[in-house]
Amino acid sequence: MTSIVPDLTTYEVWFLTGSQTLYGEEVLKQVAEQSQGVVSLLQESGDIPVTIVWKPVLISRDGILEAMVEASANPRVVGVISWMHTFSPAKMWISGLNALTKPLLHFATQANLELPWGEIDFDFMNLNQAAHGDREHAYIETRLNVPRVTVVGHASSPEVSRRIGTWARAASGIAAAKSLKVARFGDNMRFVAVTEGDKTEAEVVLGTQINTWGINELAERVHAVGEEAIDALVAEYLEAYDVAPELLPGGDRHDSLRYAAAIEAGLRGFLEEGGFGAFTDSFEDLGELRQLPGLAVQRLMADGYGFGAEGDWKTAILVHLCAVMGAGLPGGSSLMEDYTYHLVPGEELSLGAHMLEVNPALSSKKARLEIHPLGIGGKEDPVRLVFTADAGEAIVVALSDMRDRFRLVMNVVDNVDLPEAMPNLPVGHAVWKARPNFPTAVGAWLQTGGAHHTAMSTQLDPQVIKDFAKMAGIELLVIDEDTTLDGFEQQIRWNTAYYAFGGR
Ligand code: MN
Repeated sequence: MTSIVPDLTTYEVWFLTGSQTLYGEEVLKQVAEQSQGVVSLLQESGDIPVTIVWKPVLISRDGILEAMVEASANPRVVGVISWMHTFSPAKMWISGLNALTKPLLHFATQANLELPWGEIDFDFMNLNQAAHGDREHAYIETRLNVPRVTVVGHASSPEVSRRIGTWARAASGIAAAKSLKVARFGDNMRFVAVTEGDKTEAEVVLGTQINTWGINELAERVHAVGEEAIDALVAEYLEAYDVAPELLPGGDRHDSLRYAAAIEAGLRGFLEEGGFGAFTDSFEDLGELRQLPGLAVQRLMADGYGFGAEGDWKTAILVHLCAVMGAGLPGGSSLMEDYTYHLVPGEELSLGAHMLEVNPALSSKKARLEIHPLGIGGKEDPVRLVFTADAGEAIVVALSDMRDRFRLVMNVVDNVDLPEAMPNLPVGHAVWKARPNFPTAVGAWLQTGGAHHTAMSTQLDPQVIKDFAKMAGIELLVIDEDTTLDGFEQQIRWNTAYYAFGGR
């Protein structure tokens, strides 16, 4: 298995400190030392997954512009943090902020934690004037309508470093979206509405390329996979999973497992060669493939590939981006589908699954590798991994094309252990309790027109998605412990007006 989830420490966030020439060399030296101290505190916190790179203090319009242009052009840089240590007149920042194409975090802080009440004099006041320097900065950010996350507090505070870490994950997701290529095998499922969408607009908004290939191009590759490559994968499967006896070497259905391995090798080769980070297929359009890809899709998701079933490229994008933003955290990111409900009043649960394609990284237990018939599609029985997602907090996120804009909807949920075993449901699945409660969560979701396919992440703090949406300029409606149906419906109406007036 070869993960495509990036090592986030190879990504940089540039730390830009604002000042001006008014104060003289001596003060500027102190500003530089203190801002390097702030960067060290953040880096040492261990809460920030990317590398923060300190840059020389900015004191002129041209220097600011140059830094912003460089940050925008450098592929390693996923975002910029700005801090006005002193007073940095904001007209100097207009050209730079207009040139910046990467996510921005405005850090409102100061070098000292406590005011030195007994010793404080006006030199101290002149050196440590972020309180109004940051206000001047925020004025021009607001006037220019620069999307940004504002974080307030001392760099030694865990809440502050964690908050910056959350933003850095979202910024990494923005970078991943811009370089993402999605391969679609075949088109959307016939007659389905929500999996459709404007792929050109998605490239305008997210930078993601979405294109389509005939399924038989994949089938040809699958059928050309050699026995050695299949043997190697089968050996991996025997090691990683509890394999059903009929699939074992010598078992009645071992050939089906070998075919599943050929699908994995062929599909992985296609994706690697084309530089794709996400893909879709459709059970209605399998061409010469003998099985609906199940095991292969599950294992590719575990390696960070995004996947959407039935041609759903929007969910494929989300699954990959959630995997990138969750890099290094326990859990995973998966295609999920709201399937069926447990409706006992007060005990309501949602059972999510798909035909086959759920990421085994949602479970920390060893998955079972099994083969069973599939009711639809008319192909041979597919091999699949069977497991239950671990109990714990999770999010489900959907992306819908509302025609005039994209809409993200997120529900914060709690995955739970199975109330009872489900021996007759041999697919990967999750069972969850939706926040704030079942009728509110489901009612609110339906009012948004949110999709039935989602990306489920058991890695991400919901705040990562909030930051991502803000920086991507995409509408986000959040259903969590604070949601009321009345308030939520108001928000949908306000948003409709906001976007009609060109808001972002
Ligand atoms: Mn589906």
